[in-house]
Amino acid sequence: MSADALYQEIILDHYRRPHHKGLRAPYDIEVHHTNPTCGDEITLRVRLRGSGDETVVEDVSYDGDGCSISQASTSIMADLLVGATVAEGLEVEAEFHRLMLGLGQVAPDVDRLADAVALAGVARYPARVKCALLGWLAWKDAVVQVLGTRPATGEPTP
Ligand code: ZN
Repeated sequence: MSADALYQEIILDHYRRPHHKGLRAPYDIEVHHTNPTCGDEITLRVRLRGSGDETVVEDVSYDGDGCSISQASTSIMADLLVGATVAEGLEVEAEFHRLMLGLGQVAPDVDRLADAVALAGVARYPARVKCALLGWLAWKDAVVQVLGTRPATGEPTP
């Protein structure tokens, strides 16, 4: 099986059997992002635990509608985020973002991106990059909103 065929299979697998999908409670923040050019939508909920550098992503849940790239990318992202620290989650977002804006010229960090490398080929199609980034932008937005309202070092949320 060629790399492209394998990547295609990973994307379709996440699209057909998305991981962590379904909106769950409790959560700290809910955000809704859309990609009007393709008609993709995502509602994303994030639940954090702990404080400061030790803040961990306890859960990422979402519901969405749209093309296979947008939905698979969000499923892959949720796999990478759940259980990671917020700092790690932001690093992997930055890495994925760098890959997507690289026009296919940027080599993916396979260790960090795991299944997300399957989306590397999307970077060659700028019109689809917004699909792949939708969930990730929602994640970044959610974190910025939560950390903006929570002291960096304080009591963990009960
Ligand atoms: Zn799309």
